Amino acid sequence: MPSAKQIRSGFIDFFKSKGHEFVPSSPIVPIDDDTLLFTNAGMNQFKDIFLGLSIPEYRRAVNSQKCLRVSGKHNDLEEVGKDTYHHTFFEMLGNWSFDDYFKAEAIDWAWELLTKVWGIEPDKLWATVFQGDAEDSSPPDSAAKSLWPKVTGIPKERVLFGGKEDNFWEMGQTGPCGPCSEIHIDRGPDMCDKKDVAGHKCAVNGGCARFIELWNLVFIQYNRGEDGELVELGAKYVDTGAGLERIVAVLQGKRSNYDTDLFMPVIDCVSEITGRKYTSKLNNKIDNAFRVIADHVRSLVFAITDGATPSNEGRGYVIRRILRRASRFGRELGMHEPFLNKLVPVVVDCLGDAFGEIKDRADYVSMVVESEEAAFGRTLDRGIEIFNTAAEQAQASAERTISGEDAFQLYDTYGFPPDLTQLMAQERNLKVDTAVFDELMEEQRERARAAQSAVSFALGATVSAEVLKDLPPTEDLHKYQADQCDSKLIGWIDKEGLKKQGCIKVGASADFILDKTCFYAEAGGQVGDCGIIESDKGRFAVEETRKIGNNCVIHIGKVVEGEFNAGERVKAIVSKDRDAIRKNHTATHLLQWALQQTLGKSVAQQGSLVCPDYLRFDFTWPKALSSKQIKEVENLVREKISADSPVTCRVMPRDDAQKLGAMALFGEKYGNEVRVVAVGVTDNDRLNDAFSKEFCGGTHVDRLGSIGGFKIIKEESISAGIRRITALTGEKLTEFLEKRSRIVDELSEMLKVLAEDVTDRVGRLIKENKKLSKELKSASRQGGGDIMTEARQLLDGCEKIGSTSVIIGRLSTVSVEQAREAVDMLKKKAKSAAVVLGFIEDGNATLLAGLTDDLVKKSLKAGDIVKQIAPLIDGGGGGRPQMAQAGGKNPEKINDALTRAAEIIREKLSSV
Ligand code: ATP
Ligand code: MG
Repeated sequence: MPSAKQIRSGFIDFFKSKGHEFVPSSPIVPIDDDTLLFTNAGMNQFKDIFLGLSIPEYRRAVNSQKCLRVSGKHNDLEEVGKDTYHHTFFEMLGNWSFDDYFKAEAIDWAWELLTKVWGIEPDKLWATVFQGDAEDSSPPDSAAKSLWPKVTGIPKERVLFGGKEDNFWEMGQTGPCGPCSEIHIDRGPDMCDKKDVAGHKCAVNGGCARFIELWNLVFIQYNRGEDGELVELGAKYVDTGAGLERIVAVLQGKRSNYDTDLFMPVIDCVSEITGRKYTSKLNNKIDNAFRVIADHVRSLVFAITDGATPSNEGRGYVIRRILRRASRFGRELGMHEPFLNKLVPVVVDCLGDAFGEIKDRADYVSMVVESEEAAFGRTLDRGIEIFNTAAEQAQASAERTISGEDAFQLYDTYGFPPDLTQLMAQERNLKVDTAVFDELMEEQRERARAAQSAVSFALGATVSAEVLKDLPPTEDLHKYQADQCDSKLIGWIDKEGLKKQGCIKVGASADFILDKTCFYAEAGGQVGDCGIIESDKGRFAVEETRKIGNNCVIHIGKVVEGEFNAGERVKAIVSKDRDAIRKNHTATHLLQWALQQTLGKSVAQQGSLVCPDYLRFDFTWPKALSSKQIKEVENLVREKISADSPVTCRVMPRDDAQKLGAMALFGEKYGNEVRVVAVGVTDNDRLNDAFSKEFCGGTHVDRLGSIGGFKIIKEESISAGIRRITALTGEKLTEFLEKRSRIVDELSEMLKVLAEDVTDRVGRLIKENKKLSKELKSASRQGGGDIMTEARQLLDGCEKIGSTSVIIGRLSTVSVEQAREAVDMLKKKAKSAAVVLGFIEDGNATLLAGLTDDLVKKSLKAGDIVKQIAPLIDGGGGGRPQMAQAGGKNPEKINDALTRAAEIIREKLSSV
């Protein structure tokens, strides 16, 4: 039986023998393409060739592309686990002709490989061709229709016509497109999984597992213009895609892709961890969970390796959803601890030879998966409980629908992606009120947007799209050489729009536009410069600099003296802060280099902020750095600063920079010309010898010595798998150290010990303090013993409504702390209880209400009760649904408040 590995290389070698060049898979997170969340077909990386935007280095190519179909136009998430041949992550094998061979060869070779090399019986194969579409003015693919029998000998009856849906491929509304031919296999009547569906007939594209599509041959021969008309392309392309997992299942004689060596090792490992058995049955909850987990973990390994990390938006949210679904399916197999990370090495074992990158980042992926699953695990069980209650309510109702509010609470508080709630509902034959859910989501987004637009308005004038188009580009290369330059004030933007004439007077805010500038506009994490623009008659204070429209630099600020006329000569002077910014920016590069030295190459930059006061660097790493690691990173950076190496910046073609191995920011778009900042070499040296090379447009020091010093002052997590380091250099570092040293001096003065002994002394004080408070606590407990007895007596004599104890009464003077303990004790003892206690503390009235969870679920809220009775004691209060507190100035009225509380609770309990 051939292994998956042999089958993959069999495909590649076959096409190599036909003159094809092997091209490695592009990353699953597309580079330079915002239109696509994840690579979902082999053609993604060749898109520009079909569009005529780039010229291929070869005329024939072969590849195995990593694909993820979980979002957008291609989304197979819902199928996963329920059938045996749709996955989220799969490999698409493909052969490509870029204006070289066309239909005849593509059909001939596909047939040769399937039937002769791989030995699939020709009788089992079917082909489909495009039947044409009158509405769309696209003709039938009669060439393919006649080529199939001619080239392969397949009987005419097994070449079927198909419509646009299956047999015409388009990239978008316009652009290259063409008919396609699919190859399907008939796996025999007993493979049908729709036998009990009324009216089902097994057929090609009939939707059952008997016939499955193996390979799609796309013939790109038209361009669809803006008017919708098809025009024959001068150049002809072949783009094919065959699902490796399906072919492996066929060649290994398996009924299901999951039974092949691509999945079984993962399934076996799940079995080992959970102690459950996989029996390969469809429509079986346990087997389904096995399949989903095995599928999802492959997606996680590939997506996280290629740079996606779990987060709350875009790609990151897709990854988070997949992980949470997998984790929840783990509950079906009795798992309550994170376990997905243990499957990562198994996937790496299966696929690491074909995709070396997953080997390199395996540890990192495991750590990200583990911390994300652990974080979700903390809310998952509670979320499942909430879901179960909501589901019971829904089951009892006529609509059999989980409310949008519940779904939203599950999303917002317990991190349940809506499709997970949806899926759990489906399992119980329930619906989810998605309309209300969507409304609530929209409200939340609206709130976020409102908060955001308030910020951008505060930063300057508003600019309309037309104004943006009219803005002249600014010559701003001076920012790299000078802190001052002479230029002309072209005009400014204010609340009314762009002005290129007239006068602007003291007090007015505006965005100044110059013909040239030495101000650095915010980019690449480096903040925009501040400074002054001055003329003979006026001064303009620049608070911020940005680039908008077509490379137009705007200086955002205010006229602080005199006035300016459009067109006059001015001098632009960057603030002294620039020095500090340069130091921090170069130090950021050193920091990234040092992190990679210390933690390994899987450290990838996720963002940075370079400002005059400090630098901040975000990077992929799943857990807190140890103090030893932080020391090591600091020392590496400091050694480089002391060695005073030179820094060189050079502009070069992007390809050359990539060949140099310069680090680029993942997912960032770069033009054809890029600037590389190289540390450790002078301009005359080979850039290759630089120890740090990064794509960067920022401003830097000339020599490392001038950075003056480096210290990490904070290391923290900002989201799962992402750490943030904040550090200081130069003068700010000196200030920081001076301040620290002053604090130590003050402490040593206060404690009357030498600075060296401060830590020791404080340590002892803390110990002593702990001992004393322990003593104090136990002393007050003895006093409070009576309180617990008092509370217990209240329970003994309390009123019962159903199974709920309504415990209401007064305690003799106690502390809030003790009273809380009493409420907790009562809730525990009574199982279902509504507790309201009143007492006097320091002469003030205090009321404490507590509810057990079962009452909270029935929408009673301790906070509401307290709010209603607090006015009676001339006070106010509030709190959580489970526990709330009120204080007031009128202790005489405590009893009245308690009586009222009892009434409220009785009313509530009788209405649910
Ligand atoms: P299907 O109709 O079976 O979903 P498709 O028409 O979406 O397939 P294409 O977009 O033409 O498939 O992709 C080319 C090949 O990739 C298919 O012939 C199939 O072998 C494979 N393939 C597509 N989607 C998946 C998937 N979700 N899991 C595994 N293989 C797939
Ligand atoms: Mg599909």
